Amino acid sequence: MPLSFRPELDPLRPYVPPKSWRMAAEGRDDKAYAKLTSNELAFGPLPEAEAALVEALPRANRYPDSHVSRLRRAIADANPGTEPANVLVGNGSSEVLLNALQLLPRGGEVVFPWPSFSLYPTVCAVLGTKARPVPLAEGHGIPAEALLSAVTDETRAVILCNPNNPSGTYLGLDGVRELAAELPSSVLLILDEAYVEFVEDTSYENSHALALESENVVVARTFSKAHGLAGLRAGYGIASERIADHAERVRFPVSVNLAAQVAATASMLAREKVAARAGFVIRERKRLQEAFRDADLDFIPSQGNFVMVRFGADAFERSGILVREGAALGYPGWSRVTVGNSEENDRVIQAIANKDGALERGA
Ligand SMILES: *Cc1c(COP(=O)(O)O)cnc(C)c1O
Repeated sequence: MPLSFRPELDPLRPYVPPKSWRMAAEGRDDKAYAKLTSNELAFGPLPEAEAALVEALPRANRYPDSHVSRLRRAIADANPGTEPANVLVGNGSSEVLLNALQLLPRGGEVVFPWPSFSLYPTVCAVLGTKARPVPLAEGHGIPAEALLSAVTDETRAVILCNPNNPSGTYLGLDGVRELAAELPSSVLLILDEAYVEFVEDTSYENSHALALESENVVVARTFSKAHGLAGLRAGYGIASERIADHAERVRFPVSVNLAAQVAATASMLAREKVAARAGFVIRERKRLQEAFRDADLDFIPSQGNFVMVRFGADAFERSGILVREGAALGYPGWSRVTVGNSEENDRVIQAIANKDGALERGA
């Protein structure tokens, strides 16, 4: 008899990384390409984070603080009304999401808009929970009412990626509050706010307060995007003490490594600089969207550090720009373009401006 594996794992495949990751892994990173694939920040860690890394490195023989106390404190201080006991930590916000879902009774269903982050169906399969994707609304909007209608007695959680990856659309804070209020209190609402720093709508500020006021809401955030620390793996959540305490029971004791802890803490303490960088991304996002409009390309107005545009990834690649193929995200023929630095964004604008020329040459 061969080993038998859980059948719900059959449809899962290892994560297929975008081309830019594969090139880097194979040492083919020839710097000729603009890497606008994975919604990373175009800039390295803040100098404060780099200094903290250098200072911590000689201590790498020791285990780090397993409770991650300093980072929890910095996160609490950055979010008014939050105590360290309200903070969840993880190896990226992916772990925060996993740990939150692990707290719920086994089986059942998890509801989320779709297309969205590919991790959600994967985690559902790993946990043996049924994924219930709900199509985005008209204009790629968050389908708040349809999400509520999809909730049944079997629903354990609703995951709302807000702003949504890959559409860039988002639900205003009033809408989120309404959704939270109408959900049964037995259903956990996970607000995945990986891109919250890039939301322009000032009324969205302090969205974490909803998680502090509710027994069934957790906000998940990350150091991988606006903080520019994707390679170090740190994420956090804010929730009631009860949720945060339970999440600590399922977390691996040292899931947040020394480098991630010190760099994320330093970056959070320098958050005005992070906000300034996010401001740059917002301005550049506008510049890209205007160029798409001028070129008569369909695009989805975005509140993230990326824009979905109806322009082929292969055409971008011919112009030396790597983007995420829309086909992998439920948008065949489209591309998800990460907002890069000024020079990279210039190249994107150049590439689409050339499209008619390219078509003529091809004809
Ligand atoms: C990038 C991203 C994350 C961040 O994941 P990490 O594990 O923190 O790197 C989370 N959610 C969404 C929707 C994302 O796009």
